[in-house]
Amino acid sequence: MKLGTPLIALFATALALTGCSSVGSAPTTGATSKVTVTVAAYPLQFLTERIVGEAGTVTNLTQPGAEPHDLELTAKQIAEMAATDAVVYIAGFQAAVDDAIASTPPKLAIDVTAGLSLLKALPGAETNHATDPHVWLSPANMVTMAQTISAKLSTTKPELASTFAANTTKLVAELGALDASFKTGLSTCSIKAFVTSHTAFAYLANSYGLEQIGIAGLEPSEEPTAARIAEVQKLAKQYGVSTIFFETLASDAVAKSIAGDLGLKTAVLDPIEGITKASAGTNYLEVMASNLKALQEANKCS
Ligand SMILES: [Zn+2]
Repeated sequence: MKLGTPLIALFATALALTGCSSVGSAPTTGATSKVTVTVAAYPLQFLTERIVGEAGTVTNLTQPGAEPHDLELTAKQIAEMAATDAVVYIAGFQAAVDDAIASTPPKLAIDVTAGLSLLKALPGAETNHATDPHVWLSPANMVTMAQTISAKLSTTKPELASTFAANTTKLVAELGALDASFKTGLSTCSIKAFVTSHTAFAYLANSYGLEQIGIAGLEPSEEPTAARIAEVQKLAKQYGVSTIFFETLASDAVAKSIAGDLGLKTAVLDPIEGITKASAGTNYLEVMASNLKALQEANKCS
């Protein structure tokens, strides 16, 4: 028996059941339902695009290659944001987004920090942050964030809930596998600390038993003081650190100068605040895999 025949028959039956008269016409609800979502930064774009799939469009307020901390919004962007079905953001991360949501409330504001255990901003490291906003650098957090986005979008577009749920199941499996690879890959490191430019990796360090030594504060634009640089050098020696990490979207001058002074290597540890051609991958999962390799090498994990 040829396989093609029953498949074609099934397809025809399915079309008949849904009342479709031609390919691409409306489903049984009468109107083709799509969702429009605005996201505040790249990690949220990654999650939301995967969850929405073909069922809508996702607009990122932060341009690729731009630094999300410093985001400024035009009146036009704020109006467009309020016109979409939902806005996905991290409360306390980007002041412009928090302000826009307060002044021009969108139809649905999804704060992905709901349900996460937030870490306090390190004393002396914060400017306007009470908690550390870099929640996406823990894959386990990304699982919770994906589930939050999917559940909230389903309340506003119940007819798409099964699509969101199916896409989220696949996404969560990939994030779970990433989390497992970090757990295994960082379980046997002989060096327990790593030095980064801006202090973005507390959730990662916390999840996998490492210690982050940040040169600058929570914002990449913060300049470290001479005292902080001296302290980082002292800590780097104390922990036997091999590598000073820098990142793709911010200046590497301070990291390179500290590494030069101490005779250490430099390498990229990417906070994934945006994806550009300079990124070591085309999406969150790929760049995180590259981060894992970089940490394994720097921290001598075998
Ligand atoms: Zn940051």
